[in-house]
Amino acid sequence: MSKIAVCGVSGRMGQRLAHLTLEAEDLELVGGTEHAGHASIGADIGQVIGAPQLGIEVVDSLRSSAADADVVIAFTTPEATLKDAAICAEMGVPMVVGTTGFTEDQLRDFKASVSALPCVFASNFSTAMNVLFKLVQDAASILGDDYDVEILEMHHHFKVDAPSGSAITLGEKAAAGLGREFKDVVKNGREGLVGQREKMEIGMHALRAGDIAGVHKVFYGAPGEYIELGHTATSRDAFALGALRAARFVAGAEARLYSMGDVLGIE
Ligand code: NAD
Repeated sequence: MSKIAVCGVSGRMGQRLAHLTLEAEDLELVGGTEHAGHASIGADIGQVIGAPQLGIEVVDSLRSSAADADVVIAFTTPEATLKDAAICAEMGVPMVVGTTGFTEDQLRDFKASVSALPCVFASNFSTAMNVLFKLVQDAASILGDDYDVEILEMHHHFKVDAPSGSAITLGEKAAAGLGREFKDVVKNGREGLVGQREKMEIGMHALRAGDIAGVHKVFYGAPGEYIELGHTATSRDAFALGALRAARFVAGAEARLYSMGDVLGIE
């Protein structure tokens, strides 16, 4: 039985993580945090997530919430995750981290913080999406430079970062398949007289509408045809169930940074 603490337990992902932890026979929910001043601090987690009373309060201190935990799961903000990673490193508690939107500096600091821990970090915890990551790299490598690569992602209107972490990973996989450095060839959006498409660029486009949980499409186009590979998340459970799979994996793993591909055995 692995004991789980959820950071940001009142959030969209936090609530589903807590719910699915309660439903899993081999997992136990032992804590949940929110930021200081959040309306749910002091409330019962069960009440916050729409489940029966659990006798566990939402707290603003990961130190107390993680004291009994085997794994901390964090889907919050980069700033909060950086602080939580430092606390987990100090306490020696393994982590599963799904937060996106880190700057390069934040990402470097985060990786340094968790370097002595078993930690799974992924821009997308859905099992099917991780299969898509592999297919996108393979397709790019087979199709080669004659096919233009363009990526489209769609998310709910609350999402604060763009393009999505998963769209960036898809771009990195396509670039790897083509032997290109993603950051050198990415082209985020187009507007005005931008001229003809550069042959080597990888286009990224972000749509925001309603409550879309996550749609990603990768197009490879050449004269006369295009092929489209894609993934649609119909609810956040795709990510939450993957994160719980990662939690079971990381609870007994050696200290290092793992991808979801490692958890699934496809990397
Ligand atoms: P959300 O805004 O609904 O939830 C985030 C929660 O974190 C909020 O309740 C917020 O109050 C809380 N929080 C902020 N600072 C905190 C702190 N210091 N301590 C504790 N809690 C704090 O957002 P969401 O839709 O649940 O997404 C959260 C993050 O997860 C985003 O970065 C999102 O892009 C990412 N995400 C990743 C995946 C994946 O598979 N990797 C899937 C979905 C979402």
